[in-house]
Amino acid sequence: MTMNGMLIPGKTLTGNKSNSKPVHIMSVDVEDYFMVEAFAGSVPRKTWDARPSRVVTNTWRVLDLFDKFNVKATFFFVGWVAQKFPELVRDVCARGHEVACHSFWHRTVYSLTPEEFREDTRAAVRTIEDAAGVRVYGYRAPSWSITKECLWALDILAEEGFAYDSSIYPIHHDLYGVPGAQRFPYAHQLEGSRTLLEFPPTTVRLLGQSLPAAGGGYLRILPLAYTRWVFREFEQEYRERVVVYFHPWELDPEQPRIRDKWKSRLRHYTNLKKMERRLESLLENYSFRPFNEPVESGVRLEALPVLETMRVPHD
Ligand SMILES: [Zn+2]
Repeated sequence: MTMNGMLIPGKTLTGNKSNSKPVHIMSVDVEDYFMVEAFAGSVPRKTWDARPSRVVTNTWRVLDLFDKFNVKATFFFVGWVAQKFPELVRDVCARGHEVACHSFWHRTVYSLTPEEFREDTRAAVRTIEDAAGVRVYGYRAPSWSITKECLWALDILAEEGFAYDSSIYPIHHDLYGVPGAQRFPYAHQLEGSRTLLEFPPTTVRLLGQSLPAAGGGYLRILPLAYTRWVFREFEQEYRERVVVYFHPWELDPEQPRIRDKWKSRLRHYTNLKKMERRLESLLENYSFRPFNEPVESGVRLEALPVLETMRVPHD
């Protein structure tokens, strides 16, 4: 089933290309501290159940923070989390946020076959929708893992009824990214004349390069002055919205430490104590919304420029 028939183009909510300031997008990837790709070698999935979970308390902390500033966001749930803590999914919905899909097992898409990807996605959607009692329209790949090698995933997402994706990071990185991909929201033109909207995480151009900004480790580790400069560029120069993303574990300095490579530890543990204050500063100074405004039924997304998606054939 495709969502195309249900897409309501609507007005441009960001004030894109007009004189008003853009309303930015706030998103949270709901996963536990031990699920991140950087620790996958040290934390086999079969041990997840036995580990002290902190995702519920940490997500409540995020919900309270958003309530304080009256901000609504999109929460991309790992299916495993939704299965174990369905009441958390319900809480997020009840507090007016959008729930969306962050896979079931938090495996990189490029490590799966198309069939495995479809199966994992279906399991996650079923679990999240059962817990929430609402439809899921959005997808974000674990570790931004929709890369040039697995653009087939976009066709599968459209076939499975997703209206939008936020997984393609237009940067060079050792674990993910599609260098040279579009930096601002657009729509993929897919097989069978299907479309899928794409909301890339934010990048800025500096010294001829696209650099990541305003999300996860980049928001937590790089100076706050850099993030503020990015918002200024987006509001005054590009007139586009910043897509902010982070994880509930990034607000939890007390989380158990996992032994792994120094690089992974540096990325995961730096500035955990500063993160809440940084988020508060953004929530105080800028306006945010979820990707899809929660509506009674259907989706409410924007009309975006449609682009031919470069594709590598698969069998
Ligand atoms: Zn994730």
